Amino acid sequence: MDKNIAILAGDGIGPEVMQSAISVLDAISDKYGHSFIYTKALVGGAAYEKYQNHLPQDTIEICKKSDAILFGSVGGPVTEQTNPKWKNCETNSILAIRKEFNFNINLRKATIYPNLVDLSPLKNSLIPNGLDIVILRELLGDIYFGEHYLGNKNGSRFASDIAEYSEEQILSIARYAFDVARLRTKKVVSVDKANVMATSKLWREIVSEVAKEYPDVECSDMLVDNCAMQLVRNPSQFDVILTANLFGDILSDELSVLSGSIGMMPSISLNASGFGLYEPAGGSAPEIAGKNIANPIAQILSASMMLSYLFNLQKEAQAIEHAIKTTIMQGFGTLDLKDAVKVVLGTKEFTKEVIKNIL
Ligand code: NAD
Repeated sequence: MDKNIAILAGDGIGPEVMQSAISVLDAISDKYGHSFIYTKALVGGAAYEKYQNHLPQDTIEICKKSDAILFGSVGGPVTEQTNPKWKNCETNSILAIRKEFNFNINLRKATIYPNLVDLSPLKNSLIPNGLDIVILRELLGDIYFGEHYLGNKNGSRFASDIAEYSEEQILSIARYAFDVARLRTKKVVSVDKANVMATSKLWREIVSEVAKEYPDVECSDMLVDNCAMQLVRNPSQFDVILTANLFGDILSDELSVLSGSIGMMPSISLNASGFGLYEPAGGSAPEIAGKNIANPIAQILSASMMLSYLFNLQKEAQAIEHAIKTTIMQGFGTLDLKDAVKVVLGTKEFTKEVIKNIL
């Protein structure tokens, strides 16, 4: 298979962990006979240095000509945010690219490997076999995009935010969630607040209609307050969580702390036509950049999800996931995992061990 991949490594640890993902993809293409053609483009502070723009048109054009975008991370040190190179860097890069490509779906995957359960803030007894959960959050509807009012009414201060959802918006993410569930354990929990909100009532109605198109996938509904509680009480009950923009914003952050290191959480942003951006959920970690200590797992898993969910290369994606798990089970890890692994390796050295384990 020939695929064109736009490589937007960005800033901080982005270029280092991106190199790990490319080395793993190269090992996969050698082993399985594919050709991944990479076109590098600048984004974030790295782009600002050349273009005085965090998301230059040249980069957008390269993305448009590619089958997928593999993204690193952007942004500078939190103490240097007034420097024009870093000012609004994340907003100008990430929100702009979301807007440019109309990304309406965000997916994050939280994995806890069985021998890293001590890193999780959850009790070991709750996750004896580790954890593997995917959350899908709608990105372009809900209370963030309706009308906002901040002012006065009847002589006192007043504010309102309008939540809106169309049938098409819900259909698009619901179908994608069920497609993802088919690649996993075929179980979707749809999270809403249908006991109160009209948008949630519509959400629940449409999700139940979509569920009928996927009779092989088990689907249940859960209220968001209960879901927030269940994620820390009994997280193993979840496989795919499907939810709206506001609830997804909160629940995906809750989920991101469960694995114990932000360096292990991959993420996808997609539009209705399936075009997408694959990236680690974390930031550019400038304080550890250039030291060969960053955890490359989130970036490598982002590449693996691109193979599985976009290119339908299931064997290849499983080979990557298996190689990461084996490397961790062999006792290797990067510095952020030091409290749970036997041998701490640098980013490059850890990546080499992962590549050795690709079967
Ligand atoms: P961050 O995610 O970069 O770092 C938070 C903590 O996690 C730090 O201690 C960091 O060292 C650690 N960390 C993150 N990724 C790691 C990895 N792969 N391996 C080991 N440790 C890792 O968040 P922050 O410090 O709040 O932000 C730093 C910069 O990143 C800011 O400029 C911010 O705007 C930007 N940012 C970018 C994105 C993105 O590109 N998607 C997301 C969030 C933050």
